[in-house]
Amino acid sequence: MDYFLMSKELTVFDIVIVGGGPAGLFCAIHSAGEGRKVLVLEKKASCGRKLLITGSGQCNLTHEGEISEFLSHYNNTGRFLRPALMNFTNKDLVDFFVKRGVSFETDKNGKIFPSTKKAADILSVLLRECEERGVLIQCSEPVSSVKIAEGGFVVETIADKYFSKCLVVSTGGSSYPQTGSSGDGYKIAENLGQPVTEIAPALAPVYPRSYPFGSLSGISFNNARISLFRENKKIAEHNGDILLTHKGLSGPGILDFSRNILPGDVLKISFMTGMNPEEFRKDFTQKTDSGGTKLVRTILSEYSLPERFARKIIELSGISPDLTCAHLPKKERNVLIKNLTEYPFEVRELGGFDEAMVTSGGIALESVNPKTMESKVVSGLFFVGEILDIDGDTGGYNLQAAFSTGFLAAKTIISRL
Ligand SMILES: Cc1cc2nc3c(=O)[nH]c(=O)nc-3n(C[C@H](O)[C@H](O)[C@H](O)COP(=O)(O)OP(=O)(O)OC[C@H]3O[C@@H](n4cnc5c(N)ncnc54)[C@H](O)[C@@H]3O)c2cc1C
Repeated sequence: MDYFLMSKELTVFDIVIVGGGPAGLFCAIHSAGEGRKVLVLEKKASCGRKLLITGSGQCNLTHEGEISEFLSHYNNTGRFLRPALMNFTNKDLVDFFVKRGVSFETDKNGKIFPSTKKAADILSVLLRECEERGVLIQCSEPVSSVKIAEGGFVVETIADKYFSKCLVVSTGGSSYPQTGSSGDGYKIAENLGQPVTEIAPALAPVYPRSYPFGSLSGISFNNARISLFRENKKIAEHNGDILLTHKGLSGPGILDFSRNILPGDVLKISFMTGMNPEEFRKDFTQKTDSGGTKLVRTILSEYSLPERFARKIIELSGISPDLTCAHLPKKERNVLIKNLTEYPFEVRELGGFDEAMVTSGGIALESVNPKTMESKVVSGLFFVGEILDIDGDTGGYNLQAAFSTGFLAAKTIISRL
C-alpha cells in the first residue's frame, strides 16, 4: 500500500482503529474505500478472540424483533444507543452477513445464531471484508499511547508510531482479559481527557455462601422467578432461565439480573416454573392430601421437575426419598413447598472480570455524541463497542451494540474525510 511518510517515523492514515474486535472491524469495513487509508491495530496475535467465544462459540449475533424493542435491554442506556441502533438495525446486521453467504437460525427465545453455529464463520466474513476493502490489520501490536497532534493523533505501539486524522478506540471492556480486552482503552481515553465511569463486571454468575446443588451442574430451569432481598426487604424481581453450575447459579436469568445483585443479598428462587407459587402450594397440598400410598417424589414428578433435582430438594427438605404422601407431616410438606418456590441463596460473591461476559461502566456517555459516536471532548476521536458505558442483556444485544456503534462512527468519519 502506498502510505506516504509524514516524517521519518510516522506513517499517515486517515483512520486508525485501536482494537480488532467486532466493533473495530465493522468500523474499519465501513470506513474503508474511496482511497481512504484505514489501519486496525490489534493487541493479540489475531483479531476477534472474544467474538470467537460468544454464545459458547456459536455466536448469538443479535435478537429477533423490532429494533425499538432492543432499547430496554441496555440497563437504562437505550436512549444513548437509539440513534446507532436505528441507523443500523438487527435486520441490517443479519442482511450484511446473509449477503456474504451466512445463513441464520432463531432459537425459541428469539436469539439469532449463524446456522452453522460457528462464531468463526462470522469472524471470517469480517476479516475477508476488511481484506477486500483494503483495510490494513496489524496484529500483536498493542497501542501503548495516543497523543493529540495538529490535525489528528499520534498513535504509539510497541513496534511503531503512526499519525491518523481520525482515531477510533474499540478496545472493548475488561472482561475475559485473556481475549485481549483488558481495559487498555480506558487509560488511553483518560489520557486524552475523556471521562470514564467506574467499571465493574456485568452478566456475571452468582456464588452463594451455601450451595447444595453442585452435583446437579447442568440442570436448568426455564423462566424461573428470582426475587432479590436486601436486609430482609424484597427489592427486585426477575424472570429468566437459570442454570445450576458446579459452584453456583448462572444462565441468562441470573446473568441479566446480576447487575442488581450485591454480596450479602439473598436470592429466592422458584423452581416451579410456569406456575404461580400459591397455585403450586394449593395443587401440591391437594395432591399429597389425597396421595395415600403414592411416594412424595412420584407426586413431584408430575410437575416435570428434573428427577435428580426432585430427589435433592426432597432430601434438603428433610424428607426420606421413600416417604409416602400418607406419612408426609405438614411441617415437612411446608418446608418442601418453600424450598421449591422460594429457595434462599445468600450471595457470597459474583463472578469477577475473568467470568463476567461484559463490563459495566466505561467511556461516560454524556461525553460522546450518540448521533456520531464522536467524543464531545476531542474532535476526531471516536468510541465504539463495549468500551462505552453500556452493557446489554444476554440475547445478542451486546454484539448488536458493537456492530451498530461501529457502523455509525464509520458513517460519520467518511462524511468528514
Ligand atoms: C464468554 C462470552 C460470551 C459472549 N457471548 C455473547 C453473545 O453470544 N452475544 C452477544 O451479543 N455478546 C456476547 N458477549 C459479549 C460480546 O462478546 C462483547 O460485547 C463484544 O465482543 C464487544 O465487542 P468490542 O469490539 O467492543 O470489544 P472486544 O470484542 O472485546 O474487542 C476488543 C479488541 O481490542 C483489542 N485491544 C484491547 N486493547 C488493545 C490495545 N491496547 N491495542 C490494540 N488492541 C487492543 C483486544 O485484543 C480485542 O481484540 C460475550 C462475551 C463473553 C466474554
